Amino acid sequence: GEDAEQATSGSSDGQPVDSTEDRLSLIVVEGFQVGRGAARIDPSDMARLGCQAGDIIMIEGSRTTAAKVVPSALVDRGQQSIQMDSQVRQNSASGLGEHVHVHKARVSTAEKITLLPLSGGAPIQESDLQYIARYLVGLPVTIGDLLRVGTPGTAAREFLIIGTTPSTPAYTLQNRQPTGDLPIVASPAATTEVEAVLVQPGTIVRAQARGANNGAPKRVGYEDIGGLGKELQRIREMLELPLKYPAVFDRLGVEPPKGVLLYGPPGTGKTLIARVVAAETKAAFFIINGPEIINKFYGESESRLRSVFQEAQRKAPSVIFIDEIDALAPKRAESGGEVERRIVGQLLALMDGLESRGQVVIIGATNQPNALDPAIRRPGRFDREIALRVPDVRGRIEILQIHSHDAALANDVDIQRLAQLTPGFVGADLESLCREAAMIALRRVLPHIDYQRGYIPYETLVNLNITMADFQAALRE
Ligand code: ADP
Repeated sequence: GEDAEQATSGSSDGQPVDSTEDRLSLIVVEGFQVGRGAARIDPSDMARLGCQAGDIIMIEGSRTTAAKVVPSALVDRGQQSIQMDSQVRQNSASGLGEHVHVHKARVSTAEKITLLPLSGGAPIQESDLQYIARYLVGLPVTIGDLLRVGTPGTAAREFLIIGTTPSTPAYTLQNRQPTGDLPIVASPAATTEVEAVLVQPGTIVRAQARGANNGAPKRVGYEDIGGLGKELQRIREMLELPLKYPAVFDRLGVEPPKGVLLYGPPGTGKTLIARVVAAETKAAFFIINGPEIINKFYGESESRLRSVFQEAQRKAPSVIFIDEIDALAPKRAESGGEVERRIVGQLLALMDGLESRGQVVIIGATNQPNALDPAIRRPGRFDREIALRVPDVRGRIEILQIHSHDAALANDVDIQRLAQLTPGFVGADLESLCREAAMIALRRVLPHIDYQRGYIPYETLVNLNITMADFQAALRE
C-alpha cells in the first residue's frame, strides 16, 4: 500500500510526489562536471519518471538521444531543469534555455554497435575499436548519435553511430524551430521497441569502412569493366585460361600465350583490365612502367627487369603489366641508342627464356602500337593484340553505371542522357565526371553542416545525394 508507493515515487528531498508521469518537460541549463554521457535532473523529477540514479532516460530536443540520469546538486533542484554533458546536449540538438522532453528509456544491452568514421585520418585499428568499446561501457547510444573520442595517441575523432544490435530507431533532427516551451504531448503508445542500447563489456564495436574496406585497395572484378563486351571475352580466353588451367594447353599441345598487347587511347581501361585479370585469377600482379624503368632506374634498368621476371616466376601464377611499353621498346631504327637496344634485348631474352607454361602472362599497354619495335610482336612474344576503343554510347552507359553504383543518386539522374551528352569520353573521363558530380553535391550540403555544433544532422546525410544538375554542373567544369 502506502509504503510501496512511497518507495517508488517518493523523492529524496522528502517532498512527496503526487503522481508519476511518463514524460516531463525540462529546461536546459548549463551544467558543470556532468559526467560523460550523463544528464543531471532533480531527484523528485527522477521519481516522477519512475527512474533511479543510473537509469537511462530519453531526451527529446530537436533530436532524440539517450543519457544516463544522475541527481542534480541541491542548489539546482526545484527548477524543472536538466543539465547535460556537452555531447549529450549536442546529440539532443538542444540549446541552453530551450525545453526538452524526458522519459524513462526502454533499453537493451548492446550486442554490437557500428560506427562510421566522419573525420579522415589513419584507418581505424582493432585496438582503437577496443578502446572505444571500453570508453563507452555503461553508456547508452542510439542510431544517429555523434560520438567524439580521442583514441590513444591521436586527436579526437568523430564517429556517427549508424547501427546497433538490437536496433534503435534512427533518430533524425526534427525540422523544428526552438520554441521555448514545448507543449506537453501525449506520451507515445508503449511499444516493445528498444529506444537505446547500453554498451557493456561484451559489446562488439565495429567501424563501417568508408568506400570498400578500411583504406585497403578495393578488390576489382570483371564487373568493374564497362563497355568492352566482345573484347573482354577475348581477354579472358587469352589470359585467364592459361593462368587458371595450364593443363588445357598441355593437352592440346599448343603454347599458351606469353604476351598480350593492349592498345588504345589513355584512360580506356588497359591498366584496369590487367589488374582485374590478376585479381580474378588470384595471380600475383607486377607493374613495370616503361618510362620509369628507362629514366628512374637508369643504369640498372636491365637488372630491374630481370628481378621482376624472377620474382613473377617464383610467385606464379603471375601477371606482369608493362605500361607504356613503347618507351621501353621503341623501334630500334629510330632510337638507335645503345641503352635502349640493350633494354629491348633484355626484355626479349627474358620473354624467350620464360618457361612458365602460361603461368606467367605479360600484358603490355601502349597508346601507339606503331611506335613499337616489331621484334617484340613476333610469335612467342607479344603475339596477341587487343584494341581498346573509345566507348560508344552503350559502353558509356555501362561505365557510368559502374562508377555511380555505390553513390546515392537522386531519382532524376538519367544515365542514358548523360551517356548521350558525353561523346568522346573514355572510362577515365567518365569516372572523373562521377567523382566531380559527387563533390558538387557535397559542396551543396556543406553550408548546412554546423561545424560549431560538431554534429552532422542525420537528415543532412540522408539528403546527401547526387542530382542530374550536379552532373550537368560537373560537365560544364
Ligand atoms: P589506361 O591504362 O588505358 O590509361 P586506366 O585503366 O588506367 O586506363 O583507367 C583509369 C581509370 O578509368 C580506371 O581505374 C577506371 O576507374 C576508369 N576506367 C577506364 N576504362 C574503364 C572501363 N572500360 N570501364 C570502367 N572503368 C574504366
